Amino acid sequence: MKDSTILTHAGRAPLRVGGPVNMPVHRASTIVSPTLEEFDANEAGDAKFRNVCYGALGTENAFALCDAVNRLEQGAGSMVTSSGLAACTQSLLAFVGAGDHVLMPDSVYGPQRMFCESILRRFGVETTYYDPTIGAGIDVLIKANTRVVYTEAPGSLTFEMQDIPAIVQAAHAHGAVVIMDNTWAGPLYFKPLLAGVDICVEAATKFIAGHSDLVMGIITARTRELYLRMRAFCVQMGEIASPDDCYLALRGLRTMKVRMERQFAQALELARWLETRPEVLQVLYPPLESHPGHALWARDFTGGGSLFSIVLPKMERKAVAAMLNGYKLFSIGASWGGYDSLVEHCHPERTALNRIAPVWNDDNCTLVRYAIGLEDVEDLKADLEEGFGRLRAALS
Ligand SMILES: *Cc1c(COP(=O)(O)O)cnc(C)c1O
Repeated sequence: MKDSTILTHAGRAPLRVGGPVNMPVHRASTIVSPTLEEFDANEAGDAKFRNVCYGALGTENAFALCDAVNRLEQGAGSMVTSSGLAACTQSLLAFVGAGDHVLMPDSVYGPQRMFCESILRRFGVETTYYDPTIGAGIDVLIKANTRVVYTEAPGSLTFEMQDIPAIVQAAHAHGAVVIMDNTWAGPLYFKPLLAGVDICVEAATKFIAGHSDLVMGIITARTRELYLRMRAFCVQMGEIASPDDCYLALRGLRTMKVRMERQFAQALELARWLETRPEVLQVLYPPLESHPGHALWARDFTGGGSLFSIVLPKMERKAVAAMLNGYKLFSIGASWGGYDSLVEHCHPERTALNRIAPVWNDDNCTLVRYAIGLEDVEDLKADLEEGFGRLRAALS
């Protein structure tokens, strides 16, 4: 079945729930059973992962959302977490113990790096940061105690592409688990599990929910064995998302393809235009032919998130503020993947003091990240153009 059809039909059971097209919100902690025998059967072994038996283990809404995402990812099972970050941290924690070693891309989502530096370190897990563009070369960094090779493509804020199949091959040759944060492309534009990735994590907060009104993560496993291990871990950690949020995320998912197609097309148009601007040194967006990771993107991905950064010369903060503060359509705010456009002044060095790539800091350049929404693309261009006018005035 094609993705559009899955997006439309998965996670629905109108005749079972009395008729409504959308799975109604089932708010529940307790789920009652008619008999002791049924109560026991519901919760026995891994039956509790499929049956609605207690709110913290999953409601109808969580199961419906997970079913839909799992079918898109072509996985063995999905589970929801309280945030995208929780999906990142819990997936990692599920596969490591004291004395183990983890490989992390240098461009990983900042809070995930903080997690490695604080909590993982405290529990005796060592992290090595690698050049995200290393590809098959990762082989030499894998040690006897390397349990997880973590990946994220493109990298947060700086958009480095990764050769996922090559990294998978090297990691699997050494028995390491590969986790990928696939939030940028989402389950439509890249299918990590089909590329051999073991555990795919996504911030449902972004394109899946798509309306900037909830925070949630989704983890999907490639095999049944990996799924059972990951799901048992999340249950033990008490990871769940509320039925209301699952309802909204599934509602968002229904239109994800049309939203993402439009937002991707608009992002690409604006990225191409920004490349021609004299103010801009570089546009960091893998779908651009000029991007160093473009060939990998073109080989493995069928589209992209509407999120990119531009590199401007080093300048005073008040010049950046002059450009950003006056935008009429680009709101200043964290996160992305919603229907509206956002802008953020990025500081990769703040969450990654020891980033290998030294170029990304305020002493060298100014990094501004744009999330392109569903507004008319000409209106967005005009807003950006006026911003460059304010920037030039501030610099002169
Ligand atoms: C936003 C984001 C996360 C975290 O998601 P939250 O729901 O905000 O916790 C993780 N990874 C990437 C790549 C993200 O952009």
